[in-house]
Amino acid sequence: MKDHLSVWDNCLVTIKKSINPQSFKTWFDPIRPVKLDQSSLTIQVPNNFFYEWLEENYVGLLKKTIRKELGEDGRLEYQIVVDNHTDATLHSNERGNNFYSTEHIRNPFVIPGIKKIKVDPQLNPKYRFENFIEGDCNKLARSAGLAISKNPGGTAFNPLVIYGDVGLGKTHLAHAIGNEVVSKFPKKSTLYISTERFTNQIIESIRKNSINDLVNFYQSIDLLIVDDIQFLSGKAKTQEIFFNIFNELHQLGKQIIITSDRPPKSLEGIQDRLISRFKWGLSADLQSPDFETRMAILLAKMELEGVTIPPEVIEFISYNVKNNIRELEGVLISIVAQSTLNNKEIDLILAKQVVESFVSEVNNEITVENIKELVADYFKIPLDKLQGKTRKREVVIARQLSMYLAKNHTTNSLKTIGDQFGGRDHSTVIYSCRTVQDLMDTDILFKDTVFELEKKVQMTISSAQ
Ligand code: ADP
Ligand code: MG
Repeated sequence: MKDHLSVWDNCLVTIKKSINPQSFKTWFDPIRPVKLDQSSLTIQVPNNFFYEWLEENYVGLLKKTIRKELGEDGRLEYQIVVDNHTDATLHSNERGNNFYSTEHIRNPFVIPGIKKIKVDPQLNPKYRFENFIEGDCNKLARSAGLAISKNPGGTAFNPLVIYGDVGLGKTHLAHAIGNEVVSKFPKKSTLYISTERFTNQIIESIRKNSINDLVNFYQSIDLLIVDDIQFLSGKAKTQEIFFNIFNELHQLGKQIIITSDRPPKSLEGIQDRLISRFKWGLSADLQSPDFETRMAILLAKMELEGVTIPPEVIEFISYNVKNNIRELEGVLISIVAQSTLNNKEIDLILAKQVVESFVSEVNNEITVENIKELVADYFKIPLDKLQGKTRKREVVIARQLSMYLAKNHTTNSLKTIGDQFGGRDHSTVIYSCRTVQDLMDTDILFKDTVFELEKKVQMTISSAQ
């Protein structure tokens, strides 16, 4: 006899094989099968955001899997947990502990009937969702942030850990969530704090013998945002105090947001019990933005600053400043400043000067590697496919085009070029160049593509000179 548990278990086996472990853990672990009605399986998801995310990202996989288990008529229905408390009860029953049962216990330091003191959230009002440009690089973190700002403490994302390299928008996003919560829920107390400042407060209050007051204050916050948690490293006492604050807030269903320059598992010098708690909710990373997102960010900043910059300059900056949004902004501001101060027009020449002073590794020559990256990015093909053995038509063409560009825009020998495409020999390179030439002669669209790519190669070269 099939029941909802066994059907869902089977589904999970299939799903697990199709997606990466982190996604599985994030999106499928929290799902509970509820009932099976003939060919319709009902599953319970923690919230609406979850449901939308599954539908948007995994609908194909779910359909396929359900049909495999329940036949062609197989259907999936969702049940969404709306009430945070029900959710908590459900978890506590299943975990067999009474983790959430302290909910009704009052903090003895909060006197009933006395209004809470208004907390200054310490937020920068400039960092908002409206000016946080969306891209593939930040999709998950941004959506989770939005879901939280609609229902702080009431989603499965508690804590939300936003991690990524410097300058990719962690602080901006954290403030954006905070600002949104302040405007939507003015009665909730929201607080942003850097880990450094938090540490200093602790040291100070230990000195003044007022640590209890500080802990109580923090335990009364509804949304606590702690920025750059990696700075807790090696600070055992601060970690211990933060651990207590974290536990209390989490038990009360209060929202915690943490940012970090690396994923929780890679944090060093931080106690395991803290790290394991960081993993309770959702860890979402911010990656380097792709070309289109970089353009969109620059265009938005341009509008904000009220300046007009020629499109080729915007394109040029987006090409050359890749890894860091703060640097991207820095270049833009410098260009505007230089142009105003020296009464110069904003053009490619000025842009090149500024970009050079910002981008540290300046090459004098474009490399085969640069070309491969450029082409892979342009055709949205993974780099390893481009240099691999795939005979898929679109990959083959992209590969031949890369060789053509490498031949015409670098000083590498045919042999060296071949070597860099998975050890192909020089005759393959010659053949590729001919094929590209032939295609250009017969296909106007293809010719345009080649010209466009050549322009990009030129830009990379001129930025390096
Ligand atoms: P981090 O905290 O990760 O070091 P920040 O949040 O300070 O990075 O971001 C650096 C700069 O880049 C800020 O000025 C921020 O406004 C800007 N920024 C980052 N991400 C975006 C984005 N998606 N859209 C617009 N601006 C962004
Ligand atoms: Mg920051």
